[in-house]
Amino acid sequence: MPYFIDVIIPIPLQKLFTYSITTAENDFLKMGMRVAVPFGKSKIYTGIVAKIHTEAPNTYEAKEIHQILDEGPIVNEKQLRLWQWIANYYMCTLGDVMRAALPSAFILESETIITKNSKIIDESILLDEEFLVYEALQHQSSLKIHDIANILDKKNVLPVIKRLIEKEAISVEEEVYEKYKPKLVRYVKLHVNFASENALQKLLDDLHRAPKQHQVILTLFSISATTKKPVKVADLSKESDASPAIIKSLIDKGILEEYFIQTDRVEYSGDDNENTKNLNDYQKTALNEIKEAFKEQSVVLLHGVTSSGKTEVYVKLIEDALNKNQQVLYLLPEIALTAQLITRLQNYFGEQVSVFHSKYSSHERVEVWNNVLNNSAKAQIVLGARSSIFLPFNNLGLIIVDEEHEQSFKQFDPAPRYHARDTAIVLAHIHQAKTLLGSATPSLESYFNAKQNKYGFVEITKRFNDVLMPDIELVDIKDKLKKKLMKGHFSDRLLEEMTQTLRDGHQIILFQNRRGFSPIVECNTCGHSPQCPNCDVSLTYHQYRDQLRCHYCGFAEIMPKTCKACGSPDLDNKGFGTEQIEEEVKQLFPEKNVARMDLDTTRGKYGYEKIITALEQQEIDILVGTQMLTKGLDFRNVKLVGIMNADNMLNFPDFRAHERSFQLMLQVSGRAGRTEERGKVLIQTYNPHHNILQQVSTNNYKEMYNEQMNDRYNYKYPPVYKQVKITLKHKDYNRVDAASIWFATSLRNVFGDFILGPESPPIGRIRNQFYKNILVKIPKKQSLSKTKEAIIKMNNSFLSIKDFRSVKVILNVDNF
Ligand code: ADP
Ligand code: ZN
Ligand code: ZN
Repeated sequence: MPYFIDVIIPIPLQKLFTYSITTAENDFLKMGMRVAVPFGKSKIYTGIVAKIHTEAPNTYEAKEIHQILDEGPIVNEKQLRLWQWIANYYMCTLGDVMRAALPSAFILESETIITKNSKIIDESILLDEEFLVYEALQHQSSLKIHDIANILDKKNVLPVIKRLIEKEAISVEEEVYEKYKPKLVRYVKLHVNFASENALQKLLDDLHRAPKQHQVILTLFSISATTKKPVKVADLSKESDASPAIIKSLIDKGILEEYFIQTDRVEYSGDDNENTKNLNDYQKTALNEIKEAFKEQSVVLLHGVTSSGKTEVYVKLIEDALNKNQQVLYLLPEIALTAQLITRLQNYFGEQVSVFHSKYSSHERVEVWNNVLNNSAKAQIVLGARSSIFLPFNNLGLIIVDEEHEQSFKQFDPAPRYHARDTAIVLAHIHQAKTLLGSATPSLESYFNAKQNKYGFVEITKRFNDVLMPDIELVDIKDKLKKKLMKGHFSDRLLEEMTQTLRDGHQIILFQNRRGFSPIVECNTCGHSPQCPNCDVSLTYHQYRDQLRCHYCGFAEIMPKTCKACGSPDLDNKGFGTEQIEEEVKQLFPEKNVARMDLDTTRGKYGYEKIITALEQQEIDILVGTQMLTKGLDFRNVKLVGIMNADNMLNFPDFRAHERSFQLMLQVSGRAGRTEERGKVLIQTYNPHHNILQQVSTNNYKEMYNEQMNDRYNYKYPPVYKQVKITLKHKDYNRVDAASIWFATSLRNVFGDFILGPESPPIGRIRNQFYKNILVKIPKKQSLSKTKEAIIKMNNSFLSIKDFRSVKVILNVDNF
């Protein structure tokens, strides 16, 4: 009997392709194994076996596969079910899902570029063919798969490549990501010049007139004598009661020497595990309520104010799952920003914690993948950002989605445009596991689902240790301007509070929702402002390089001295960003250490780590940053948070702008005063009576929810209506315009008023492509799957029109 397999190939094909296999292959193959298959005229792809059967395809003759690549499945049946759900729900192909789901090292294909690892390996472990390839790579920096096919004079070379990867001789090229950044801790020691007793005695004599410095040296000795360990700058500063500046001056003089030790956060090497904490009464109640709710429901929303101790509640649930030998997935919006949490979990659970991140090297990702696949002891708890929902769990008991309101759980580009929280719920369902969503500021849709009893609901309204919620004060900038009480972008109130906070030895965070020096340059004579040549946006001024840059396509040019339109030298900066705030703070508080945290300053190697560590160790007095600051950081000594301008968030053209502003401001505020003393938050605004600001200042989530939900009902927005966004793009405006009118009109014929657009988005052109959007609103009573079917049908007719074929169509389900 002839045997066939249906194969998922990592390209966007509507249907699976069928290949024929031999009887022997049929005996060996299982669903979820990889095969190398020919495709098109000369391409070879890695595919995943989705189905094994005996029906020949009737429209084409099935080709034979080249080779089986695995001994056993690398993707399990539950994953394939999840992939299918994602493809259906998010209107993409299984190939799209496969590409997002598998570490790229699993997807060898003809275009893959192979390079030699810098690591020297023992060549005697290489088989003959492997050695040939390895040797060729001594002479050429990289090879493509077909080069290797020529070298070995055979078609199917993927098994050889696969073995070479496993032997760590070669790598497949991919985007060069920076590796996970280890934490750098600063240490000091006495410079070797003072190692001898004489030199030391002389040094101490010399320092006699600088008692503070003298004290630092003595303290250094007493710490190393008692601990016998390297001495951290932070400890030295604390023990000797000397400011970081004094220690720095000793380093500058060459008396002390600073050095860094990497504390690796990925590989756990700690001592015995810590016991988990005893919960307080609020946490205990919440834990019991969650467990109770889980008896009836598979999803529970935990609404706990910032610093209420949600994490410790998660920890108890994780313990329970582990005791039942179940795997746990802990989803976070952003791994790079949660080093503190990783350490915390590792202290409790040791090496059972694995971290998975799309920015890991391919090798590290494969390692975690295999640990999860084999249900190894090392990967009982996986901590990961959105892509970790794709790991090959086989015995998942619990998924925690922390900060469930965060937008970064949604993948916008490329397909699959999935939301990791929603997909996690489906994943949990497939495993009959439970999902806990946690947030201090839940998304409206989750809160709505809880209110509709789709989810269980549990609250913690008190901060841990009864630390008071921060005191939030609104500052009316319009009024301050009129009374001439503004210095640059700082009101007198903010300056007063800053001065006081610094005097008390505490730290300050200033939040500004924009990076760059000032977003827009404008000519005071003719009003012209420089635009990006590729996109419909004004360029942003970046002071430190004296450049104008486009945040959409990366275009950059030197800041012109005169207006390009009229030649006037009178150019003005409108609006303001993080860089300008930093500049102003430095002038206002010249003796303080000021740092900035945004995409520009955290890009470099360890950029982010350095800032966080410096803040933790109190080397920074004032940190200026963008929304990066909002995510999960726990800074004990930060007592004041200033939000420089609330209005540019509130006025953002998006139906969620108000909800998001509320979440952002409360989350930023949550950074203030997480221990004993009450924190202070100042929000500067032109419109202090704005309802959202009132709701933020009284921490009134429910009122925000009710008011926003009213709008959502009235204007037919999610979560009341479902939404699919259709985006068309093309380099020719007229073509995309005609195409989008055709598409919208056809949709309107079926769905009537529930179609909005076509509209040009606020930025109508990016990278020389013109954009048009059409919005499909789907009322609760209308079938979602039928609606999607209709859209896909429409899309197929659209693609059959010759003029429109070159227009790219992007379907985005739940595009918010
Ligand atoms: P959330 O996640 O709700 O913002 P966290 O879980 O980070 O809050 O807790 C805030 C702080 O309180 C942390 O420093 C944490 O270690 C501490 N904490 C929370 N619960 C307990 C507990 N039961 N015992 C001791 N410390 C706790
Ligand atoms: Zn001009
Ligand atoms: Zn641009």
